[in-house]
Amino acid sequence: ETAPDKTTQKLQSRPVPRIDARHVLHPWADLSSLGTQDALVIHSAKGVRVRDSAGKSYLDAIGGMWCMTLGYGREELAEAMADQARQMAYYTPFGDVSSEPAARLAEKLAKLSPGDLNRVHFTTCGSTAVESAIRIAQYHFAAQGQPQRRHVLSRINAYHGGTYLTQSLSGKSADRTLFHYEAEFVHHLSSPGYDPDRSNISAEAKLQELLSEMEAEIARIGPENIACFIAEPIMASGGVLTPPEGYQKATCDLCHKYGILYISDEVVTGFGRLGYFFASDVRFGLAPDMIITAKGLSSGYQPLGAVLISDRIATALARNAPADKPVFSNGFTYSGHPVACAVALANIEIMERENICGHVRDVGPYFIDKLRALRGKDIVYTVRGDHLMACVECWTGEEVGPTAANMALAQRVDSYCQEAGLLVRPYENLCILSPPLIITRSDIDRIVAILSEALDRAEADQKAGKI
Ligand code: PMP
Repeated sequence: ETAPDKTTQKLQSRPVPRIDARHVLHPWADLSSLGTQDALVIHSAKGVRVRDSAGKSYLDAIGGMWCMTLGYGREELAEAMADQARQMAYYTPFGDVSSEPAARLAEKLAKLSPGDLNRVHFTTCGSTAVESAIRIAQYHFAAQGQPQRRHVLSRINAYHGGTYLTQSLSGKSADRTLFHYEAEFVHHLSSPGYDPDRSNISAEAKLQELLSEMEAEIARIGPENIACFIAEPIMASGGVLTPPEGYQKATCDLCHKYGILYISDEVVTGFGRLGYFFASDVRFGLAPDMIITAKGLSSGYQPLGAVLISDRIATALARNAPADKPVFSNGFTYSGHPVACAVALANIEIMERENICGHVRDVGPYFIDKLRALRGKDIVYTVRGDHLMACVECWTGEEVGPTAANMALAQRVDSYCQEAGLLVRPYENLCILSPPLIITRSDIDRIVAILSEALDRAEADQKAGKI
C-alpha cells in the first residue's frame, strides 16, 4: 500500500461538517448560509434513536423524513440488502428484463393494495413515481385519441416532489422561488385543510365549499381536457392538513363522474403511518385509479418508489398503444432496483409478522391525544394530526401563519428540542412529527415531555423579548 499523500491526510483530518460545508449543496439548503453553517452529521442509529458525529444521542421524532418506519439498525433488513447485493446487485429493468425481488414485490403490492391496482410501475423515489403517474394518465388519454386531455388538478399546500413537474404540482408558496414551474396544464384548487378547533365554519360547510370550487374549476377547464387529479389523503409536508370528513371520497366520486383519473399520493400516509398499508380505501373509502408509494415502502433503507395502476388502466394502455410505436417510454436506470426491492420485501414481512399497522392503530391515538394536551400553551396556535403524523403550529398570539415572528418562535422550539435530545422537523412556523412506527408509549411520553419543555422555554424567551 502506498502512504496517503499530503492532500489526502489533510482531507482525512478535516471534520466532516467542514468538508460538507465546503462541498455539498443540500436539498432545500438555505443559500444565505451556504458554506458557513456546520451541518448536523448523523453518524449512527439504532431503533428510534440517532447519534451525531460528536456522539450526542437524539430521539428521532421525524422518522428520518417520514420514512424510517421500522427503526434504525434492523439486522434483517441489512441482511436482505447484503444477500441481494452479493447475489445480483443490479441489472437493467428495461423492456422485458426483470429481477426476482422486483417481480415478487409487485405481486405483494398487488395483494396489499385496494381494488384492482394489480400492475406496478417501479421508480426510484416518490417524485419519480408521481411524475410517472401523471405521464401515464396523459398517455392513457392520448392513446385513446384525446391528447387534449392532459390537464392536471392539484391543490394549494400539496407536496408531490422535487422534480420540475412534481414541484409544479406542489402548492406550497414558500417553495415557489426563482425556479421555473409548469403552469400551462397544472391547476391548483384551494387547500382542503380544515381545523375544527380553529375554524368558524362547520366541516360540512367547508366540504361543500371545496366541492363547489372543484366542480366549477372542472367546468372552467372542461372535463374533456382534464386527465387527472392528484391528492395526498392528508397533506404531509404542507403542514399535516386534514380535510373535512368525507372530502377524499367526495372528490374521488366527482373525478369519476367526469371521467377524470384519481391519483392518491400515499408516499407518507401509506405503509402504516395511518395504521394501514394503504389508507386510501380503508380510512377514506377511496377507489383510486393509481396509488403512489415510496418512503415507508422500504422503511427508508433504500430509495424506492412505485405507481400502483389499476388493471383497467394498464389494459387500456396496452390495448390503445400505437401499433407502430408501442414502447412505454418512461422509466429509470434504477427503477425497481433489486437491492431496494429485496429490502422492501423484508420490510413488509416484518411489518406483517410484528403487526406494525395494529401497533400504529394502538399508539397513534395516544400520540395525538398527548400532543393535543399542549394546546393550552400560549405559543401553540393548534395541534393537528392523525395517528403517527402530527404537527404543532406556533404563533406569538397575533397573526396566524408563517410570519417571521412565528417562524422564529418555532425555530427556537426546535433548537431547544435538539438541545434536549429530540429531533422534530422545523418547517415555517410548524414543528412536524412523524416518529418511526415502532415508537412505544414511553418514547411518546418522552417526545411530548421534551417538546412541552421546549415550548415553555421558547414562550418565556418570547415574553422576555429575547426572540
Ligand atoms: N409525495 C409526497 C406526499 C411526499 O411527501 C414526498 C416527499 N416528502 C414526495 C411525494 C416525493 O418523494 P421523494 O422525496 O422520495 O421524491
